[in-house]
Amino acid sequence: MVRPEWRAATSYIDGLAVPGTASEQVLDPATGGRIGTVQLGDAAMVDDAVVAAGAAFPSWRDLGPSERGRMILDATDVVEADVGELAATVGLEVGKVRREAFGDVAGALALLRGFVGLVEELSNGEDRTGQPGTGQATAVRIRHVPVGPVGVIGPWNTPVFLTFNGIAPALASGCTVVVKPPVEAPLALTAVLRALAERLPAGVLNIVQGRGSVVGQRIAEHPGIRAVMFTGSTATGRSIAAAGAATIKKVALELGGNDPAIVLADAAITPELIAELVAGAFSMSGQICFNIKRVYVHISRRDELVDGLRAALSRVVVGDPLDPASQMGPLTTRDGYENALRLLRSARDAGARVEELGVRSPSAQWEAGNYVRPTLVTDVPADHELVLDEQFAPILPVIAFDDEDAAVAEANRTEFGLASSVWSADLAHAERIARRIEAGNTFVNAHRLGASVPLVPFGGVKQSGVGRTHGIHSLHHCTEEHAIVAFDDARAQLPGLDPWLETDEEVAR
Ligand code: NAD
Repeated sequence: MVRPEWRAATSYIDGLAVPGTASEQVLDPATGGRIGTVQLGDAAMVDDAVVAAGAAFPSWRDLGPSERGRMILDATDVVEADVGELAATVGLEVGKVRREAFGDVAGALALLRGFVGLVEELSNGEDRTGQPGTGQATAVRIRHVPVGPVGVIGPWNTPVFLTFNGIAPALASGCTVVVKPPVEAPLALTAVLRALAERLPAGVLNIVQGRGSVVGQRIAEHPGIRAVMFTGSTATGRSIAAAGAATIKKVALELGGNDPAIVLADAAITPELIAELVAGAFSMSGQICFNIKRVYVHISRRDELVDGLRAALSRVVVGDPLDPASQMGPLTTRDGYENALRLLRSARDAGARVEELGVRSPSAQWEAGNYVRPTLVTDVPADHELVLDEQFAPILPVIAFDDEDAAVAEANRTEFGLASSVWSADLAHAERIARRIEAGNTFVNAHRLGASVPLVPFGGVKQSGVGRTHGIHSLHHCTEEHAIVAFDDARAQLPGLDPWLETDEEVAR
């Protein structure tokens, strides 16, 4: 495979590229080789970026949705021209196969366009004068105002799309941004960010590279940052919520998941169901927050389902992400790879049946890369770590149940609550079960597909997150409602309704 040339990711603050105080190599998960470098910033650079974002905020906000939108759309059009190369870069650094890499970049551009349109549409009805029917206030204006500088911190698994899941609503609604790309996969994201930032007024979009514990932490605690939009692990989410608490920040947390799929006795185990389960569990080598991470199947359908999954997984081609024939690439990080091997050893030790499937493509450097084959695990104890924790690897435990109540209890037996799915030919039956699952989203007869319905709120319950994204739900994180309620004459408008007025009159008497 010919690998694209070396790239560098630097910080960009107030319209200027800023060198780092140290640098780190970006590794190719398919070979272990170096493919780029990231210049790490520090807390002082965050401080500079927040000053720039604060200074740029009033004029960016006051431009109004149309003018802001036009600038964002013009910049987005420029990035679009390079979408193929950007997809190749993100594929290389994350280990995504072509289709997944393309979706990461193209999805981010769609977010920018979508939020520009949505904010314009909402702003048309923003300043409502009068409130018919209240009989009290002469004029009520409810404005959705941008909060100010927003911090955006994202993960390495879908670095471009998930970072823009925060940036796009923030920029479109009039916030300025300080963004920290993930150190593991900063290259494509930084290229997109730079192309945009250079076409927006200085200070509107600032990039600070660096470690989460230094740069991310400073963003979360900085008093000049009004809201943080974070996507990543539950452990980091906890630390960001704590850091943001000191300055009462709005904090949106999209965190980890351990999604259950419950296959009921009346499910139709068709090739389509198997294909959607496989896509739901194994896309991006199992490294998506809402991948299916465990399957509970009714005992009467267990063998049929396991046979179907085994047959489908045996055909999955695992290979170099740059090889168009590859359907699954390597794991992104060496730590994730080693954790996957540890989980497999531990499951075997616990008596589970572990089947490593898939076709090993000759394009893959098996010894050097972080390759794990799509793996089916059966006869695993229901309380094994592989079942109750987030494996973030292409390893799917399948557990049989004979009692639906017990299956629901097992599905809920975790502090995660991101997505989930129920599979049945009887939609009413599926919905009865779905209503009992503790999750932000429950899909019926789908999993990955369900999350792409754009205006459906997406997010987690319990320790999978706080808040929802998608459409208007994302805008709640970066705007505040400002109500201006005006009266011609307070006493005439509120006869006897306001205890403060009564008290004033009593005091005067
Ligand atoms: P991570 O939490 O380790 O890192 C995410 C980002 O946070 C990185 O940019 C990192 O540098 C930064 N960070 C680390 N420590 C920080 C700190 N103390 N303060 C501020 N920032 C800090 O997560 P990851 O390993 O990059 O991503 C994988 C995790 O993300 C998985 O748990 C996955 O489920 C989750 N995830 C959730 C969603 C969702 O929408 N709910 C989407 C994708 C990934």
